[in-house]
Order: sequence, then C-alpha cells, then structure tokens
Amino acid sequence: MRKISVRLIVAVCGMLFLVGCSTAKKSKVLQSKTSVITPSVIVENSAPKLDTMNKTSTVVEQAKVAPVISAEAALTPEQIAWNMFLQGTNKQYDFASAIHYDVRKPSFVMIHHTSQANLAQTIRTFQLPHTKVSSHYVIGRDGRVVQMLNDYLRGWHAGRGKWGSITDMNSVSIGIELDNNGSEPFPDAQINSLLVLLDTLKTRYSIPQKNFIGHADFAPGRKDDPNVFFPWQVLAERGFGIWYNPNYLVAPPMNFNPIDALKLMGYDMTNQDYAIKSFKRKYVKSDLSPVLTDRDKAILYDLYRKYY
Ligand SMILES: [Zn+2]
Repeated sequence: MRKISVRLIVAVCGMLFLVGCSTAKKSKVLQSKTSVITPSVIVENSAPKLDTMNKTSTVVEQAKVAPVISAEAALTPEQIAWNMFLQGTNKQYDFASAIHYDVRKPSFVMIHHTSQANLAQTIRTFQLPHTKVSSHYVIGRDGRVVQMLNDYLRGWHAGRGKWGSITDMNSVSIGIELDNNGSEPFPDAQINSLLVLLDTLKTRYSIPQKNFIGHADFAPGRKDDPNVFFPWQVLAERGFGIWYNPNYLVAPPMNFNPIDALKLMGYDMTNQDYAIKSFKRKYVKSDLSPVLTDRDKAILYDLYRKYY
C-alpha cells in the first residue's frame, strides 16, 4: 500500500508539474493563475485504493478510481485535465498498474500566422474564454517567444481538418503562432527565433522532417496560414518540412499521377481544388489557381522522388 501511495503521489506531482510548466514563464502580458489544485487535496480525494500487498493468488486488481473533483462547480483547466486523467481508466476491465511509463510526446509541429495586430493582442485573444483557441508558442515580430501551454498538453490550434490519416491534429502536435497580419513578410528576427525553437522541439521529441507543416496543409479551403511570404525553403534546408530543388526540375513520367502524389504527401483530396491551391500557396506562391501547370507537376514530382 505504501509503495502504491508513493507511486501515486509521484504521478500526481508529475501531473501538476506538467500543468504548472505552462504557467512557469510569467511575463508582463501574462496573467497569473489564481486557482490551483493542492497535492494534498488530490491525493486525499482521488487516489485509487489498491492494495497489492495482500494479494497472493492473483495480480489482477479492480481499479477504484475516485469520483471526479467536482461535477457541479466551474472547473479550472487544471481540474478538467486532472478529471480526464482519472477517467481514462476503463472501469469495465480489471486493473493491474504498470510501473514503466512516461508521458506521450508530440510528433507534429504546426505553424500558423495570427492575423492579429501585435503579440499582446494575440495573447489577449488566447486568454479570452469565448475564443476557444490556444497555441503552445507565440513568436513576435521582434523574435520574442512566449510559451502559453506546456508541450505535453493538448492545444486548440488545428481545429477541423485532415493530414494523411490524422484528423485530431491537436492531440499529436505543437502549435506555433507567428505574429503577422496575414499578408506581410516575416522579419528575420522572428524566423531566427522560430528556427531555434524548432531545433529544440525536433531534438527533444524526435519529430520527423516531414511532420513540420502549416495550418493550410491540414485544413485546405478553410485556412491559408502561414501566408505566401513564409520561408518554407529556409526551414526545409534546416530539416523542418520539405522543399524541392529548383535546379533539377524534370517533367514527370507519363504514369505519374499528381493527385495520388498530393494524397501521399498528406493532403485531404476531398476537395481537389482546395488541396491544389494549398499546395501551390506553399510551393509555387505566384499562381494560386487550382490548376497544376507543367512546372507545378515537376515540383510535385521532385518532392515525391526526394521524400516519398
Ligand atoms: Zn492557423
């Protein structure tokens, strides 16, 4: 019982640490949290009462997960996260707690532009209750980086869309918002800060090169960020996302099917025009019509040969 309790306390503290990390970096524009869950309250109210010491005939236990913290009162995001953690055990099954585990890591990074006037306005927007949007990081035009959510928590930045077989992108990705009005270039200071951040995330979570994508890749027709000025080629040269070689473009063979290639890359081809426009906004930039020219097909074929 003591071992179990110690393990639970460690798990609880770990959970609180993760949640707490999201508020660790305070800045002038960030509001301080006023409500937190104390470890003593959580352990007392919710610790499963497993007693494996007295079990000799079987290692299978019945999970006894305590009731949620409160079903009535308005809950803080921390309390909601904790309740979800408790309810993640399927009560219809027997339970024997594992001892080897850690937290799941993000495997995608999604880049956005804010379409807002400045960094402070973006942060205010993300802190308004009715907006229901969030991002793990926001990067200002001057290169200042503000973290708003711990990397391990699920941000609300991707919304509805599809990339490959993934539809719940929020569950597997980190969202990065770049302060930008939607139709302007991205300053060097901002891109330099982004590259440093991407390097950290790629190394820490072993994120594959192809898994650095834009919001418009995931939600063609609904989203167009980051805008056409975003330097995807610079990122690809550093290992974040993919790019073609403009010096070696060749006409694809007769049996090359560009629609299949777009689908293989990850684009949702439910609406082909939207997918083609999203592809061209990223790789062609100068012509955003939903028609693939010979050069567009050559670009697509080069990407296909290099990465797929
Ligand atoms: Zn976006």
